Order: sequence, then structure tokens, then C-alpha cells
Amino acid sequence: MSKEKIIIANWKMNLSYQESLKYLKSISRFLIGLKNAIIILCPSFVSLADIAKEIRGRKIELGAQDVFWLEEGAYTGEISIRSLKEIGCKYVIIGHSERRKYINETDQMVNQKIKITLKHYITPILCIGENEEQRKENQTAKVLKDQLTEDLKQVDPANRKIIIAYEPVWAVGTGHEATAEQVNEAVLIIKSCLAKLFKNIDIDGHFKILYGGSVNQEDIKEFLNLDSIDGFLIGSASADKRQFLGIINRLKNF
Ligand code: PEP
Repeated sequence: MSKEKIIIANWKMNLSYQESLKYLKSISRFLIGLKNAIIILCPSFVSLADIAKEIRGRKIELGAQDVFWLEEGAYTGEISIRSLKEIGCKYVIIGHSERRKYINETDQMVNQKIKITLKHYITPILCIGENEEQRKENQTAKVLKDQLTEDLKQVDPANRKIIIAYEPVWAVGTGHEATAEQVNEAVLIIKSCLAKLFKNIDIDGHFKILYGGSVNQEDIKEFLNLDSIDGFLIGSASADKRQFLGIINRLKNF
């Protein structure tokens, strides 16, 4: 493998607090010796602090599944970037399609979340992607450009890293992953859009591009050969021990 792959494990709302700790204990010895990948675990908010203690000193990073867009205040139920930073989160997933769908998260909210995250030197993992209807209507390029333009409006990537996860909505949690060709096409669109948005920025130095959408231990084989992507955002399969260890083995043997 030419360069280190980024593997983001989005456990979503799949593991309870106890289950998360138990799961981590059961998989951590298999992560030893994994040299060509960086693993970023994204458990639920309640599990984050204790997972942070468990991974201390190991080559595993911590990410949150969301963040609020303001520093602090009367925002009942929300989680601040400062709290995430204090417990050791280095990454935050922002604009996941499930949040855009179920919580009606808008590009404007996503944009503010990206800004506050970067302000605190945390790396945002921005999820973008077209839905099934948009793909059928050949709107994929437009959707990706519109999302990047809105979500990264007035964002300054200088001295920061941003991860873009191309996650076609029709592939997330459906078992229908994109083809290598579709991923390559999307990455080209994303890179050319980023180059237009950030003219004086070294795009490859500041942005990493991942694919996410029903990646499992079988299909990852094909995707691992794609040079266009820097890694994967893995949902359901990352919270399933057999699947996740299968993925880890593929990485070890790549
Ligand atoms: C995700 O949660 O971002 C995701 C890609 O989910 P899944 O792998 O289950 O499709």
C-alpha cells in the first residue's frame, strides 16, 4: 500500500455504552500491527470519554458523530466542540446524510459546524453525496458542487486539515455500494471544485477524500486499489465484529 489509509468507524446509534466498551476490548488486540492505516473510532456521545481512556497510548484516534455550531449557551441537548476537545476528540463527522435527513440539518448549519470545528483545530469529516433521484437525473456533479460551495463557504483551510467523505445517500446503509468508476468520477468532481474554491491552497495537502456507503469486508478489496481515495467511512460494518475484523485483515494483507 502506497500511503496510510484513513478508516473511520461510525458506530452510529448501534452500540450502547456498555456494548461500545466491550466491543473495543474485543477488537483492540487485532488492531496491533496495523501499520498502513489510521483508525478513527466514532462512538456515541455518552461513550466517548471512556473510549478515550481505553485508546490512550494506542494507535487509534477518536471522533464524534456531530457537534453544535456555537461555543456554549442555552442549547439544551447539544454538545460543544470544547467538550469534545477536552476529552480527546480529534475529528468530528459533520453533515452526515442521516442527520441531514432525520434532523433536517441544512448546509448552513453544516457550514457553521465546520467553522467552529476548525477554529478549535479539530478535523471535520464533511459528508456529501447525492440521493438516488439526483443521480438518476444526472445531478450528481451539481449536488456535490453545491454542497461543497455552501458547506465550505468562508472556510479557511490554511493550517488545517479537512476530510471530505463522498457518501452517496443511496449507498449509505443500503447494502448497495457505489462502483469504483462512480467513486473515481465523484472524486474528480470534488477535487476540481475544491481547486476552484481554494485557489491558493495545496488541495492534496489540506484535504483528504474518503468513500463511504455500505463498505464491507468483501467489497473493500476492490476499493483498496483505488488511488483516488484516501480511505473509508464505514458505518454498520464497523460495529459488527466479524465484518470489522475482516476489514482490518484486508488492510493488514494489502
Ligand atoms: C456511514 O455511516 O457513513 C455509512 C457509510 O454507513 P454504512 O457503511 O452502513 O453504509
